[in-house]
Amino acid sequence: DALNQSLADIKNIDVSFEFFPPKTEQMEQTLWSSVERLAPLKPAYMSVTYGANSGERDRTHDVVKRIQNETGISAAPHLTCVDASREELVQIAKDYWDAGIRRIVALRGDLPPGVTETELYGADLVALLKEVADFDISVAAYPEVHPEAPNSQFDLLNLKRKVDAGADQAITQFFFDAEVFLRFRDRAAAAGIEANLIPGILPVTNYKTLVKFAGMTNVNVPNWLHRMYEGLDENDQTTRNLLGASISMDMVKILAKEGVRNFHFYTLNRSELSFAICHMLGLRAEQG
Ligand code: FAD
Repeated sequence: DALNQSLADIKNIDVSFEFFPPKTEQMEQTLWSSVERLAPLKPAYMSVTYGANSGERDRTHDVVKRIQNETGISAAPHLTCVDASREELVQIAKDYWDAGIRRIVALRGDLPPGVTETELYGADLVALLKEVADFDISVAAYPEVHPEAPNSQFDLLNLKRKVDAGADQAITQFFFDAEVFLRFRDRAAAAGIEANLIPGILPVTNYKTLVKFAGMTNVNVPNWLHRMYEGLDENDQTTRNLLGASISMDMVKILAKEGVRNFHFYTLNRSELSFAICHMLGLRAEQG
């Protein structure tokens, strides 16, 4: 009850939605109907991921451009640096700036199989981008520690390096325990990290994919969550969506009560759950 009461009082919620470039005609339709559904909520921006295989950067750029043109909402390409030289990155950044893009989600990217080191890390990309132009830059943060980091303190100091290099805010990896985020926020503050820490919310629509992905990214899936999906009919998507929404809503309520005002949604190109959670947070679709 106290949670719902505090929800009724909050204002100034700002959200962002993350999408990925579609690979098929059908995925393309799903993406654009989701963009259309979520745009009237007036998110601060919509971001589009980038995968290192060839041609993908163009697809990221195409989606970003189309979002800006068709919705008027600011769109942010994700950009990785493991797969490009400094010169290439400078050129990409200039092209983005000239195309009217002002926000970038700056990442190192995952190392190709067999590779253990790289010339450029996330912090280097942030510095490089800031040298090209005054982009608004988001970086990645890991409440449960990045899988490659030697320890949590090293990883936290890495986040500080990214912020000191000019990152404006940090979006977290997804998580399922609000306490994990809140403790991380405290540790970041204690380390002198002043940039806004934005929780990355993953509304779960597919439990099996989630478990696989969580394993790869060092994200803890709590026992209660496993239990929730036990014995559920494979084809019962309605129940899956309701469970996913309920999990995210519980978490978001706690975070909002603890003063969090920005939320980043990993939409996986779907709109239903993110829309419902935003509505619960008080956002209303603007008509027309
Ligand atoms: P970094 O901040 O560079 O850190 C990577 C690792 O290296 C950490 O363990 C860090 O502690 C360590 N490290 C940092 N500096 C050094 C150093 N000098 N020496 C040794 N170790 C160091 N991936 C994509 O490919 N495309 C995307 O669009 C994408 N979007 C994402 C969006 C968000 C919000 C998040 C959270 C992740 C995203 N990722 C994406 C995944 C990301 O690319 C991977 O998690 C990647 O492995 C790390 O990227 P980073 O920018 O956090 O790297």
